[in-house]
Amino acid sequence: MNLVPEIVALDAEMRDWRHRLHANPETAFEEEATSRFVAERLRAFGLDVHDGIAKTGVVGVLRNGASNASIGLRADLDALPIHEESGLPHASRNAGRMHACGHDGHTTMLLAAAKAIAARRNFAGTLHFVFQPAEENEGGGRVMVEEGLFDRFPMRAVYGMHNWPRKPLGSFAMRPGPLMGAYDVFEIVATGKGAHAAMAYMGKDPMLFVAQAINALQTIVSRNLHPLAAGVVSVTQVHGGDTWNVIPQEVVLRGTVRTFDPAVQDLIEQRMRTIVAGVAATFEMSATVRYERRYPATVNAENETRHAAAAATAVVGAEHVETDPTPEMGSEDFAFMLQAKPGCYVWLGAGKGPDTHNIHSPHYDFNDEALEIGASYWVTLVEQQLAAAAAQKAA
Ligand SMILES: [Zn+2]
Ligand SMILES: [Zn+2]
Repeated sequence: MNLVPEIVALDAEMRDWRHRLHANPETAFEEEATSRFVAERLRAFGLDVHDGIAKTGVVGVLRNGASNASIGLRADLDALPIHEESGLPHASRNAGRMHACGHDGHTTMLLAAAKAIAARRNFAGTLHFVFQPAEENEGGGRVMVEEGLFDRFPMRAVYGMHNWPRKPLGSFAMRPGPLMGAYDVFEIVATGKGAHAAMAYMGKDPMLFVAQAINALQTIVSRNLHPLAAGVVSVTQVHGGDTWNVIPQEVVLRGTVRTFDPAVQDLIEQRMRTIVAGVAATFEMSATVRYERRYPATVNAENETRHAAAAATAVVGAEHVETDPTPEMGSEDFAFMLQAKPGCYVWLGAGKGPDTHNIHSPHYDFNDEALEIGASYWVTLVEQQLAAAAAQKAA
């Protein structure tokens, strides 16, 4: 493994930062202390610091040499509304909040990379260290783009990274095209006619709608999609009824749809509307569908994926870099940045063997053994992409 010596020297400090961030988790757009923690350190490393972007987002800018080349590296700051059950010494001190997705580790690795890159000064161009709020559910990445991230901080490409506990430590995975899915949510409200449950013939029972609609919605993927196209339709909530002997007036279904291809996304939404209207008509009741597209698919660009693979290969060796992993239907709001700029999002292997808890588990903890690897990847990517020698040759 080719770790960057200045990163290896930061190992104890990285663990300290990571544990402090982990103990003090903050959720979407409330990452005030986390944002200050990041901004203070970036200033101390000599970067130009711009805070208050998308409320709690921070961008650190580092320039070296005369080259106009510029790239961005992005980490996420936020925690989840989960009650931590890890029992670790650095467990969350904020009840009901937890760094259960490892964004504490992501923030730490990008901070360490900024410190090491600023010390080495072995690049030519402008670097943007982007620390975004609210990756979980609230689309802080989208808000940063809407607030002019790429106008204020021009860059030719942007790179992201997520720890992946289901891949072995010391490995990376990335692919051109979609790596993570689009995240849509839906709410279906069926309105029938409430009645005494012993006199069901006097009502229009929305529970029948529920029973038929859930089954029928599962035919979209199995009967309407091309067998090689990908989609998930999950009904995750059913709300209706209060007691044993009353047929309720109304029932609410909620759930999520995941896709990679916008054409498939359109097809699923259209079929959902048709099925809901049809089932409601069958049972002589009305039903509405609210369908909301939250995050687009996370789609990597070909060139930048090659660059990311080259940097990962330099750190861990080609045999530990997977360049055609099976994509996952989880979603990621880095997708909004990738819609605006070419770039690559990689998975950083972070497995802990049989003790591995997956992200979003109340027992999860970022694997500190991955800190040096991820931070070395950032430094290597920068020094390959903005190579000082190449800039001299060009000049
Ligand atoms: Zn997450
Ligand atoms: Zn995450």
